[in-house]
Amino acid sequence: MGIFSIDSKNNKQILTLQSPKDFSVIGEYQCASTEDVNNAMKNARLAQEDWAKTSINKRIGLMHKVIDVIIDNQDHIMDVVIQETGKPIQEAMSMEIYSSIDSLAFYAKRAKKWLKTKVVKMHGPMSFLKKTKIIYKAKGVIGVITPWNGPFILSINPVIQALLCGNAVIIKPSEVTPKSGMLVQDMFALAGAPKNLVQVLIGDGKVGSDLIDAKPDKISFTGSINTGKKIAQKCGEKLIPFSLELGGKDAMIVCSDADIDDAVNGAVIGSCMNAGQYCCGTERIYVLDDIYDVFIKKVVATTESLKQSDQLYADIGATFWDKQIDIIEEHISDAITKGAKILCGGTKNPNLKGLYFQPTVIVDVSHEMKIMTDETFGPIIAIMKVSSEDEALQYANDSYYGLNGNVWTKDIKKGEKIASSLETGACSVNDMAMSYGVNEVPFGGVKQSGMGSVNGKEGFRSYAHAMPIIIGKKPASIYPYNQKSFDQMKGAIKLFWGSKIMRKFWG
Ligand code: NAD
Repeated sequence: MGIFSIDSKNNKQILTLQSPKDFSVIGEYQCASTEDVNNAMKNARLAQEDWAKTSINKRIGLMHKVIDVIIDNQDHIMDVVIQETGKPIQEAMSMEIYSSIDSLAFYAKRAKKWLKTKVVKMHGPMSFLKKTKIIYKAKGVIGVITPWNGPFILSINPVIQALLCGNAVIIKPSEVTPKSGMLVQDMFALAGAPKNLVQVLIGDGKVGSDLIDAKPDKISFTGSINTGKKIAQKCGEKLIPFSLELGGKDAMIVCSDADIDDAVNGAVIGSCMNAGQYCCGTERIYVLDDIYDVFIKKVVATTESLKQSDQLYADIGATFWDKQIDIIEEHISDAITKGAKILCGGTKNPNLKGLYFQPTVIVDVSHEMKIMTDETFGPIIAIMKVSSEDEALQYANDSYYGLNGNVWTKDIKKGEKIASSLETGACSVNDMAMSYGVNEVPFGGVKQSGMGSVNGKEGFRSYAHAMPIIIGKKPASIYPYNQKSFDQMKGAIKLFWGSKIMRKFWG
């Protein structure tokens, strides 16, 4: 949680950070001014010129050194993340450390293959005249603007991909978790990265906006829909390419033939992991009526067994900032006013000093309530009874979000069919939605949950410019235009595409 003030000596903004665990002050930071942002961009451009000339092996080598540095410094990284977020140590380890190392190793292993110059076999008559290659060039300087819910992983993951493609990066981490973002710069520096290749600018949305004004060659944004729209508008005005990874309201569908115990665990962890502050968190659950009662009974029992505390080994930690608590409370109160029933939790934890919202099971909910329509981002298990799979699907798709979802059934074919009918970027069957952590696949939302994708080969290559180089085998000599050249072309069209067989051959 941050409080901003102005330093009267130099008129710079100061961010004083409080821990959500107990509101103790954990840091004071000078925010970047417009001039600082512009200087960072100048320095990044210089660093990038040299970096783009390095061999791919050298870039891969840097990633391996960063892995070593993260392994050596994992306790420090977790300390910082826990201070800023109040998440349990298991989640700091799995979401931030494990995932970062996994990404570093994954992209380091594939970068050479994915960036290798590709010789393209040409089709049709052009194959007699030209040869073509695609080279993958760095874009330049990438601005990486990130949120607070996975403050280290969501900052480092785009950086890994951008650097391997030969770019320099400037990160603008969330003002809620600036030090966790700063750790990315620290880890690369410790690994021996060239100066200014990875820079971090601390501050609020104004600094993010200044970063776009400084004209990077791409913006990789992760955050809310509202900010995403502002980023899109600004990048659009300047024609800066951008990717948007935005919020979600993921639906879970529990069919009558689901393994109930697995589905119950999936519901509880999907809704409560990271205290519900997970872009692909399960935010609404549709359960078939014939298993509804037993499902609810088990979900309540499991939820009540979770240990929420400010200690390292809790199951559920804090909400990372006060504004999110306000949203959770608003959604709960709106739902209760409209007839929803709380079966457990429902309020802040009275036994803890910091920002701890209790894991909550809420039923008798409807799409008239914010809790089923807007992103809550809290440890809330909101469950609605439905009478058919079609009805569940209709409700699941009744959303302006489209990030992820999950379907539970023992019939995998049916599960895949329902999954493919969901209007989302991705979907899981018999698993909580975890596609961000699956590096093999592109990750990105549809509807208002995002534009473009990160991760996988597609996401990785979006940090490079795929540039075709076309080599003429015979110099073009089309002039002079005359009746003969015209008739020759007409004849060629008939020859190459005048019949289905020839189209198949030359197409
Ligand atoms: P946010 O949009 O408030 O802020 C994100 C970042 O944008 C911060 O660094 C912020 O300072 C910066 N920012 C704010 N205004 C800006 C402006 N005008 N110009 C440039 N930068 C600006 O989001 P948040 O509250 O930090 O994060 C939570 C949201 O992020 C949730 O909606 C969550 O679902 C989403 N999220 C999405 C993904 C995904 O991959 N789809 C992953 C994690 C989080």
